[in-house]
Amino acid sequence: MSTIAAIATPDAPGGISVIRISGNDAFVISDRIFRSFAGKTVQDMEGYTCAYGNIVDADEVVDDVVLTVFRAPKSYTGENVAEISCHGGRYITRKILRLILKNGAEPAGAGEFTKRAFLNGKMSLTQAEAVMDVISSAGETELRCANALKDGAVFRRINGLKNDLVKILADLAAWADFPEEDVPEVRPEVLLSELEELSQKFAKLAATYDSGRIIRDGINTVIVGRPNAGKSTLMNCLSGFQRSIVTDIEGTTRDVIEESIKLGDFTLRLSDTAGIRSTDDVIENMGVEIAFSRMKEADLIFAVFDSSRDLSEEDKRIISNIDLSKSVAIINKIDADSKIDRDYIYSIFKYVAEISAKNEDGIEKIEKILEEMFEHNDKPENGFIANERQKNCLERAAEYVNEAKTALESGVLLDGITVLLDSASEKLMELTGEKVSEAVVDDVFSRFCVGK
Ligand code: GDP
Repeated sequence: MSTIAAIATPDAPGGISVIRISGNDAFVISDRIFRSFAGKTVQDMEGYTCAYGNIVDADEVVDDVVLTVFRAPKSYTGENVAEISCHGGRYITRKILRLILKNGAEPAGAGEFTKRAFLNGKMSLTQAEAVMDVISSAGETELRCANALKDGAVFRRINGLKNDLVKILADLAAWADFPEEDVPEVRPEVLLSELEELSQKFAKLAATYDSGRIIRDGINTVIVGRPNAGKSTLMNCLSGFQRSIVTDIEGTTRDVIEESIKLGDFTLRLSDTAGIRSTDDVIENMGVEIAFSRMKEADLIFAVFDSSRDLSEEDKRIISNIDLSKSVAIINKIDADSKIDRDYIYSIFKYVAEISAKNEDGIEKIEKILEEMFEHNDKPENGFIANERQKNCLERAAEYVNEAKTALESGVLLDGITVLLDSASEKLMELTGEKVSEAVVDDVFSRFCVGK
């Protein structure tokens, strides 16, 4: 493989910049441009040591730098690596990089250092993906997720599943190949229950993708309710400042207003939708359509009811259109005279909070409900599936296991079952990168920045 070089620090002025060189010729190339003050050549330096010296271009001294040596395989990429810490000016950093390239290195592509680390067996594909997640983490919990991925927690969970699968495959192979030997018979009902258990484990791991997404991006929350129920007031009260226009003319909130707010330990991505009602107003009707489509995608729905009025047809239409398992009924305006049929609402919703959005009363009840709804989520340290690629591989593997189950139930021969389970195992290996096409690897690393 060629020797590559790139600037590893941001393209901006700073105290120092780091230029990384990786590959067989990393030390030979370094010796062409570096003169250590102690007189030692880079090729003679031990791994994990550094030297102070000048970068030179023929007779010209370009900069005084510190050069650190990492010898293969004990380096980030698994290859010989030299890292030059120079003064952090953009011009000087680029000038040194150009000099390195002139002396035989090739410019590194996006993520090429990490790609080499993966190809040299220094990390699994999920760990490599985590490197970029760590870099782009914007908060504490997000960083915990990325670090768990980097430390291999996801890899270990997937490997656990793969081992279960391999054990079943081994039993099947032994039974098929040596039926007359003293090999335990594979009984369909036992196999079926093993596959059932495996399928549940797959589903559990796939569900961590949503837990991770909720931590990273917040709970996708939609506020619905008939006009004047108090949706905008609730949103304003939750966000702590006036954002949507609150009036008592019905139908003021036409478009969807979005806001990210913190409620206890949770981040909610709130959208206040147009009041759900039948209307001739074309624009408002579009808003109503959007409201219904948003509800389908949401993780959480706040269905707001006006307790000072009877339940209307619109309220009932909302109730019949929402997924109750992810909905909280918000009985609003408890400061006013009550008319609403509370028992009816309690009989339908598992989660109910009675509040006065106007007086900011009862918000802590909503917080408690969220803890109850989302607290069962796994902990980031256990390892969460981190992206669509990983989720797709896992879902495909789960489909193969489920197909194997159905095939077994309908009497397909064990050979057929083996083929399906082999495919499931291959999907898991694609997930971890043990068996993955070049195109997938290229795609993963194309999302990286140059120098990582
Ligand atoms: P939306 O159409 O559902 O967004 O409703 P708004 O938030 O615009 O509120 C409609 C009207 O109800 C406004 O006059 C609010 O001041 C009033 N309102 C909202 N929440 C409360 C509440 O908790 N108590 C009382 N008494 N009035 C409220």
